[in-house]
Amino acid sequence: MEDFGFPIAVVSDCISARADEKGICFDRPVTIQVQLQGQIQCRICLAWNEARYYKSCRNCGSFLGRKCHNPACRSAVPADAKVCPKCRLRLTQGRRYACLLELADTMLFLGNVADTRQACYLAHQILPGPELESRLARARLIQRLIEQTRDCAARKAWSKALETIRQLHEFAPHFRCPGIPSLAEIQRYVEAAREKMNAIPPSQDPVKAAKICLGYLLHWTDCEEAIERIKSVCRLLEDQQKHSLARQLAQKLVELRPVENHREAQENHRSNGVSSGIRH
Ligand SMILES: [Zn+2]
Ligand SMILES: [Zn+2]
Repeated sequence: MEDFGFPIAVVSDCISARADEKGICFDRPVTIQVQLQGQIQCRICLAWNEARYYKSCRNCGSFLGRKCHNPACRSAVPADAKVCPKCRLRLTQGRRYACLLELADTMLFLGNVADTRQACYLAHQILPGPELESRLARARLIQRLIEQTRDCAARKAWSKALETIRQLHEFAPHFRCPGIPSLAEIQRYVEAAREKMNAIPPSQDPVKAAKICLGYLLHWTDCEEAIERIKSVCRLLEDQQKHSLARQLAQKLVELRPVENHREAQENHRSNGVSSGIRH
């Protein structure tokens, strides 16, 4: 009323008259009860709204509900709901569930399988479902690729190691594990070794060149370039009727790569009954 220019005395008279009409007595302290149960406070203008009647704020019109925290759902949920009606996520656990999924994704990115599983296990206790299954499947795949890469590194099979670690980086782009050389390290080694092998002049004595390649195979056991070079020297020696020398060289290759040569020999045997292990 003061805003409309009435003096204080007039305002007081008006209030007294209104109080008399409503039967309110100002002599005693007035007890006011505020009922908040079933009321929702608008996040924008802070006005209270009765949940039963309002989906949007009666004051500013903002939506009174909230969004489900499940990143795969994000449904609009009524403000007084306890559980998301679509995905059944308990809303009091919504933030925790979303954080655990985010943690699982970060751990997958790093190739940390153990922590991914732990985060999925905790999230599973809140809400089991395909969101967790897909992350656990990716963790299993990463685990398998880590084991394969570790095995290849132990055998110094750098060509195969490079192949598996590349696949690993597709699923875990920031993978790094102590004891397993990084993608960049393997790449650097392979490129440097290949460069040195290519630097062997064509004029080099073939047996000497083959021996240099055998030396490389000790440190890079599945180096196709070295294997092909040794095989071509074997063929050359056989053409020159130097069978004993050719056999010695072939024997060394078999010793260095027993598994691969065994498999190759079996395949040769199956296809044409010949099992030289060297000649195709
Ligand atoms: Zn509002
Ligand atoms: Zn939901």
